Amino acid sequence: MNFERIYLDNAATTPLRQEVADAMHAALEESGFNPSSLHAEGRKARAVLDEARDRIAATLGATRTEITFTASGTEANNLALFGMTRASAKGRHIVVSAIEHPAVLRPAAQLRDEGFEVTYLPVASDGQVAADAFEAALRPGTVLASIMYANNEIGTVQPIRHLAEIAGRHGVAIHTDAVQAPSWLPCDVRELGVDLLSLSGHKFGGPKGTGLLYARRGLALAPLVHGGGQEFGRRSGTENVVGAAGMARALELAAVGRAENIRRTAELRDQLEAGIRAGISDVHVNGTGAPRLANNLSVSFAGVESEALLVGLDLAGVAVSAGSACTSGTLEPSHVLAALGLEPRWQTGAIRFSLGTTTRRAEIERVLVLLPGVVAQLRSPAPAPR
Ligand code: PLP
Repeated sequence: MNFERIYLDNAATTPLRQEVADAMHAALEESGFNPSSLHAEGRKARAVLDEARDRIAATLGATRTEITFTASGTEANNLALFGMTRASAKGRHIVVSAIEHPAVLRPAAQLRDEGFEVTYLPVASDGQVAADAFEAALRPGTVLASIMYANNEIGTVQPIRHLAEIAGRHGVAIHTDAVQAPSWLPCDVRELGVDLLSLSGHKFGGPKGTGLLYARRGLALAPLVHGGGQEFGRRSGTENVVGAAGMARALELAAVGRAENIRRTAELRDQLEAGIRAGISDVHVNGTGAPRLANNLSVSFAGVESEALLVGLDLAGVAVSAGSACTSGTLEPSHVLAALGLEPRWQTGAIRFSLGTTTRRAEIERVLVLLPGVVAQLRSPAPAPR
């Protein structure tokens, strides 16, 4: 029998939604000009860009000038960390969690090389930052705290609203990397109480190469890219008008469909988790005990290498990820699993299943049929040479 491939790697990227492609097509026809040009043609492109920005601002509970378009979630995170620290004379200390994406950890390490002090907050075995440890880390010279909203590997959700309230009390600006959030968690910036928030279009049905940084009005942010002064002087370069229109549509769709998607997807994810626990011995589900994204299931299989399992599943027609796929195809030991304090045997055989809004029950059932055989084959000793 011929089976279609099953895509369970939506935390790495999501397919472009048809409604988004349609919105981009319409924008392409209207916006073939430079939005900075003052003539009628330029004003037409500007109108498309402005509309995208307004719709995004409305969806996030922000205002137009608080939204800066970038070319990725990575760039938005870099702008938050470097932009804040370079614009502030308050001090030379920042706080990040130990399980941030490299798009936060690497800028933090660069700042450390430049003389900043960086506090790396540990997480408990359930993957959450402790609020009291967060508060204890803040000091008068702390310029920024950056704590991700939801983790890309194990899906754990941080209590951002509570952390933002603590940061606010101490007069410390707080940034959250919300790249994994829009399809599964509310993203109203005023409700969350954050000062800065990063998004990436391709994680919620939008186009790759689009991202944005929300920065609360009045916050000083030094630009990373200098030039013509676009994006309120925060990010020069002629804007990706079509990409912005696509991201705006995708964000609206994510917000509108969220409640139903969570209900449907959590049910399928739980079915997958229960089926794995029932059908395969020696497994450990990572990041349980704390709120988790509805689409995420990170499972460690004792006695197998995650790379081998990934390849075995790929050959069987199932696309998944081993730890984080974002680090340019390299499969290094996961700093996230290490931060959970897992026994070494649970750190090497981890697979991330990330469901999407279009994942079907039949696909989950098919994975549950295939997976035990793939794991068993990898666990069985190799035949002795003859
Ligand atoms: N932050 C998180 C939590 C992510 O999961 C990713 C990508 O996987 C990024 C940042 C980087 O986003 P982008 O691919 O748009 O650079």
